[in-house]
Amino acid sequence: MKMIDEKKINDILNSTSAPDDKRLDEILAKALQKKGISIEETAELLHVSGNQLHAVFRTAWKVKHEIYGNRLVLFAPLYLSDFCINDCEYCGFHCRNKELKRQRLSMEEIRKETELIIKMGHKRILVESGEHPDNSVDYVCDAIRTIYDTKIENGEIRRVNVNIAATTVENYKKLKEIGIGTYQLFQETYHKKTYEKLHKGPKSDYHRQITAHERAFEAGIDDYGIGVLFGLYDYKFEVLALLSHARYMEEKYGVGPHTISVPRFKNAPSVFYNPEFPVSDSDFLKLIAVIRLSVPYTGMIISTRESPEIRKKAFELGISQTSAASKTSPGGYSTKENVQFQLSDHRPVDEVLRDMCNQEMLPSFCTACYRSKRTGETFMKLAKAGNIHFLCHPNAILTFKEYLEDYTSEEMKKIGEETILKELEKIEDEKRRKETKNRLKRIEKGERDLFF
Ligand code: SF4
Ligand code: SF4
Repeated sequence: MKMIDEKKINDILNSTSAPDDKRLDEILAKALQKKGISIEETAELLHVSGNQLHAVFRTAWKVKHEIYGNRLVLFAPLYLSDFCINDCEYCGFHCRNKELKRQRLSMEEIRKETELIIKMGHKRILVESGEHPDNSVDYVCDAIRTIYDTKIENGEIRRVNVNIAATTVENYKKLKEIGIGTYQLFQETYHKKTYEKLHKGPKSDYHRQITAHERAFEAGIDDYGIGVLFGLYDYKFEVLALLSHARYMEEKYGVGPHTISVPRFKNAPSVFYNPEFPVSDSDFLKLIAVIRLSVPYTGMIISTRESPEIRKKAFELGISQTSAASKTSPGGYSTKENVQFQLSDHRPVDEVLRDMCNQEMLPSFCTACYRSKRTGETFMKLAKAGNIHFLCHPNAILTFKEYLEDYTSEEMKKIGEETILKELEKIEDEKRRKETKNRLKRIEKGERDLFF
């Protein structure tokens, strides 16, 4: 099987069109079975516009809800270094940016940043770094060790996910040994010609980028994330290519991506790139819904690149993880920041959580699966059977309770406690509900890190 067959993807896009209402109902009925839909059916949904979109959105919400429930898992990025030898057109850290006063954080600085992230209530960090000989994998491993070692009062980071440049099997083995959660790497664009036009430096090697997850897999990392930077090429092509990538990995290794990220191009200092294929808000929301229907079991991530309004809508269409109160530069939590790209959501964590509760979402700081060895195939089996929600939901309640006990204002605590009461009633299994209540009491008495 070819990982990305551009001709085939273009043929599918050219030979399909928006379905009529009857056909749309058929595709959505199939999607509701939560086993995914074919690439051709996905293409048909990508052609949908106007009033038909409401039906696609409603179905996406239903599928997301049945698999993951209403929980939204939170994380914060931590940038280690903005030194980079690549010259990617769309990124403020590209090596042509001579104005940038670059930084590589020392272990002490990483500890300080981690403390600030912990004090916001976060339990998950996504480590990011530019590609540079001095940002070696050994340096990244030391950083991860430092993050895991940092504890303040009840706070700690329980899961470190990693987004660093494509590397070798040997280096991925080091990341595996140090105990990373998910290894994320985005193809940025799957369109080879566009990819080669927009990148200079080692990252310009399309093959190195697209085969990275296979090397990570070979090294034993079975939780991996993929993504596209939307705006670089036609979004319909990108979605079909992204899904082809997911299917290729699933067929070859038996494990689909743990997460799919959907960043959209944003401006940054020294970036003069004018996206040739800007994605409108409406198309952006559509592609989120369509991905959710096509790979129902995969976590979907949105970042603070997007505005609170778009994020709110996206939460209802299939997003299951989100960053909050992010800083996108090394040292950004403690000092003034350089930016890799512009952010559109600057709200503090408390405000993000309050809005989630008002939207009847359940904030979660859960990290249970990775620490219970529910990764890779084991995780996928649970997710595909629609059973992960029975763990996500009580774990979200417990970790949200920790947040309310340790990090929030009185006002937010009141809102949060009301949300918890409502959510407890939704636990159908009486034994599980009783045990969750029992654990909530233990958290009130000072215990932490209780999970299913
Ligand atoms: Fe470097 Fe990554 Fe930015 Fe490219 S996207 S310039 S590799 S930091
Ligand atoms: Fe994620 Fe597993 Fe926790 Fe659900 S139970 S939120 S899948 S870590």
